[in-house]
Amino acid sequence: MNPYSRNDFPRQHQTLHGFLIVVFASIALALPASSGFAGQQPATSSGVAVAPTRKAAATLSAAERKASARIKLQTIRDVTTKLSAPEFEGRGTGQSGADKAAQYLAGRFAKLGLKPAGENGTYLQQIKFKTTQILAETSVKVGDTTLQHGTDYVILPPYSSDVVDVTGDLVFAGFGVVAPDLNRDDLAGLDLKGKVVIVLSGQPEGVDATAWKRVTSPQVRAANIFGRGAVAMIAANAGTSAQPFATIANYLSRRRVSLASQPTLPFRFPPVLIASDAAMEKVFAGSEMTYAQTWEKAKTGAIISRELGKKATLALRFKREETTSSNVAGVLEGSDPKLKEEAVIFTAHYDAYGIESDGRIFPGAADNALGVGTITSIAEAFSKAFPKPASRPRRSIIFLAVTGEEYGLFGAEHWVAHPTWPLDKIAADINFDGIGTEVYGPVKRVVGFGAEHSDLGDVFEDVSVATGNIVSPDPMPEENAFVRSDHYSFVKKGVPALMLMGGPAGDVNVWIARARKWLETDYHTQTDTVKPDWDWTGPQTLAKLGMIIGLRVANADTMPAWRTTSPFNKPRNPTKVLPAN
Ligand SMILES: [Zn+2]
Repeated sequence: MNPYSRNDFPRQHQTLHGFLIVVFASIALALPASSGFAGQQPATSSGVAVAPTRKAAATLSAAERKASARIKLQTIRDVTTKLSAPEFEGRGTGQSGADKAAQYLAGRFAKLGLKPAGENGTYLQQIKFKTTQILAETSVKVGDTTLQHGTDYVILPPYSSDVVDVTGDLVFAGFGVVAPDLNRDDLAGLDLKGKVVIVLSGQPEGVDATAWKRVTSPQVRAANIFGRGAVAMIAANAGTSAQPFATIANYLSRRRVSLASQPTLPFRFPPVLIASDAAMEKVFAGSEMTYAQTWEKAKTGAIISRELGKKATLALRFKREETTSSNVAGVLEGSDPKLKEEAVIFTAHYDAYGIESDGRIFPGAADNALGVGTITSIAEAFSKAFPKPASRPRRSIIFLAVTGEEYGLFGAEHWVAHPTWPLDKIAADINFDGIGTEVYGPVKRVVGFGAEHSDLGDVFEDVSVATGNIVSPDPMPEENAFVRSDHYSFVKKGVPALMLMGGPAGDVNVWIARARKWLETDYHTQTDTVKPDWDWTGPQTLAKLGMIIGLRVANADTMPAWRTTSPFNKPRNPTKVLPAN
């Protein structure tokens, strides 16, 4: 899943005012919504189980049983293990590891007899990206002390030029608040022109939270500081218990990726650093109070803004590149002369966070080599179960492994904007992307994110019951998973979609606790690797479920429809799409 709560903010924020919001909101955007920054998501969270108003058809046909028996555990394990191996270097969008993965997947699709469904008669659909990396030459000095990028500070994106050189006297500006109605002016008597200004996040005790939020909104605060001529800002106290500085730093020190088609900012903006408490102690060293004492005092509401009597020198260096990365698509043509023009599409993103210049690799095994292993096993089962074209499902079946998901569903967004199969003929999308709960044990409980929004919910419920699984509601609704993976790009284009997730039998709280722990320790980190205790029968069960759902949709007389009550209800490929999540 991807950590962005909105994925196309640059398009929406081309004014300075909008940009100021973006500068600050991007802290939240760059981080997993799981960690308490989940600000601006629509209240359309999904994954609530289908209301049991109808009786599920509790049996599988002999054909379904036979076809789904072709799902091989071995294939899921092989593909997942292969893709998360060091040779693929974390499959970073725009990096050679991802290209290698794309070639590997194209090769597997070819061997299964899938026809190329990319562009120019190939399995690939190439997409142009822009990437930005913070170079090792970057340096930040405060007085005589050099601060370390990644541990002492990180730089808030976006990065609009290759070189940023700024020097100025350091000024501590408290919370940076100017609010006559709160009887507060942190900037009174300060000259910020040409200065590097330190501002505290958080709030003093006893202040009305709503009023405080208003006067410390990103745009208000930036207007206060930069409007008075500051040349740089350092945000202190930015970490919280839910989102410690180390987590912020882990994300913001990584390579950044966006679609090449996204417009660049038409102006440059002073740099904003986010600093750790330890770094702030170095900054305050030798002044009249330590940083800890300063924070204690600031908490009481006292105005303690002052010059620190030191200079800060920022020499920021970025490498900005244009690069490409590809979606991979193959199709098994349907057997019905007319209906084969329509298709069910299985999706999973194969990208992870790639490799950093310091050698850190983010293997993305559970998220989402596992999902790709799962759709590959489904592709294999379809092609082995229906070797003769005439025996195949009526509609065609597309397998699409997308790139660029982690940075904002870019591969899926690109595919729906430049579909290699007519969007109005895509019956449904079935997506696999997750946090690896399927490997916790034999899958017994299944979640169909988005099930309540369309006819797919009925199919999901029927197949779940028929395969002996228990339909569970979304175990972590606060994660808002329905708008956070590739199927949402299809949903916005009017294509009914499901994202499948599985968990073991027994006490749900046990695996939710395990998942939460994994989100804290392994999610999007170097330790998302294949573990020896993974139970591969879990994803095998989920693959069977997905395959049979796909089979039923592919053989149905009509394509699935949205529930009329769903907020996503609209025709496929409409001229106007829903606003981005
Ligand atoms: Zn993912």
